[in-house]
Amino acid sequence: MTTASAPAIECGSERLPGGFDPRRLRRQFPIFDNNPDLVFLDSGASAQKPALVIDRVADYYRTDYANVHRGVYRLSARSTELFEEARAKVQRFLNAADPREIVFVRGATEAINLVAQSWGWAFLKPGDEVVISELEHHSNIVPWQLLRDRLGIRLVVTPIDATGGLDLAAFAAKLSSRTRLVAITHIANATGSLVPVETVVELSHRAGARVLIDGCQAAPRLAVDVQALGCDFYTFSGHKTYGPTGIGVLWGRYDVLAAMPPWQGGGDMIVNVTFEKTDFQDPPHRFEAGTPDISGAIGLAAALDFIEELGRENILEHEEALTGYGVDQLSRIPGLQLLGAGQRRLGILSFDLEGVHPHDLATVLDQHHVAVRAGHHCAQPLLDKLGVGATTRASLGVYNDERDIDALVDAIEAAREMFR
Ligand SMILES: *Cc1c(COP(=O)(O)O)cnc(C)c1O
Repeated sequence: MTTASAPAIECGSERLPGGFDPRRLRRQFPIFDNNPDLVFLDSGASAQKPALVIDRVADYYRTDYANVHRGVYRLSARSTELFEEARAKVQRFLNAADPREIVFVRGATEAINLVAQSWGWAFLKPGDEVVISELEHHSNIVPWQLLRDRLGIRLVVTPIDATGGLDLAAFAAKLSSRTRLVAITHIANATGSLVPVETVVELSHRAGARVLIDGCQAAPRLAVDVQALGCDFYTFSGHKTYGPTGIGVLWGRYDVLAAMPPWQGGGDMIVNVTFEKTDFQDPPHRFEAGTPDISGAIGLAAALDFIEELGRENILEHEEALTGYGVDQLSRIPGLQLLGAGQRRLGILSFDLEGVHPHDLATVLDQHHVAVRAGHHCAQPLLDKLGVGATTRASLGVYNDERDIDALVDAIEAAREMFR
């Protein structure tokens, strides 16, 4: 029961709404049984998997496995049903209008390449502009550069402000009648900066541009409603959402997808093939050439069930509280500089420790069983802009609590002693 005033949040206690308790939750993740000392702070790179996801994939192979959309026999029909149920699960997770708007892909990288190659080649011409931001992951930069170099479009980069958040005024000024697409992250993976995507969508649509949102870091942390957002494409990766590797989602508005040509050719995406001519399926199958990652989709559906069971509001509250605790604790360490994340930071703490290279720091942290990431986090242009070549990044998941942050702080203090 929640009351009108928000209940106090204490990570690791049972006072969280919905009985959300990271320490108890950890028992559902076998990785922690098998690595009892592990302080895992790298969910931004990939989240650990709850037993029910691992078991769901194994059970599927044990009991229901066959290829989909092909066989007339019952096992294949059953497998197809599970695969299509997974699609419907993703539809509900994103509050999409129609399951045919859900395209299964390998991950966000493949989703963005699909949009660039299919939508880009069909609808862009030389001189047209695609706007991305300085906050982007390489996955939302390089596909557009490839298109620029082959097609002659212009790639426009909209800047962050002095606090590390998206500069909305500068963004508005970048938009023009030449802008055809705005491709932007929901949460920056290198800094945790939450982008006000609702405003971005509104401004972009007013300029007549379509909007693609890279939701890799947002889908595991907050409730995403693509109809409320009003964007045209949304993507996320299964493995960052407590699901298996090798599966991801591209959501596109049906009318937008239906106007797009196929991307890859092969089986499953056709209606009729002769050597002269091929008729293609409607979305989503048009974009799913070849045997898909069936077990991945079914495992992803289990992961989304897991997230919904926990409650996305509860997850958000948890991540916000723990992010705040992390900022407070890290800010007390002399010589530690947190990278700016603008008005709102969620789930990711990226920092520089004076006099210690991030790789050396991460190595010392690992000796204390603290798993973090060091490097450019696939966002080299952003780190260049912020004037750092590399950072150390701690990122949060549902199984983390204050003790993990405390362990991180202790390990950083030990490193400071070592490198003094
Ligand atoms: C991880 C990540 C990607 C790439 O996802 P893959 O699963 O590697 O395809 C893209 N954008 C952001 C913001 C990410 O965090």
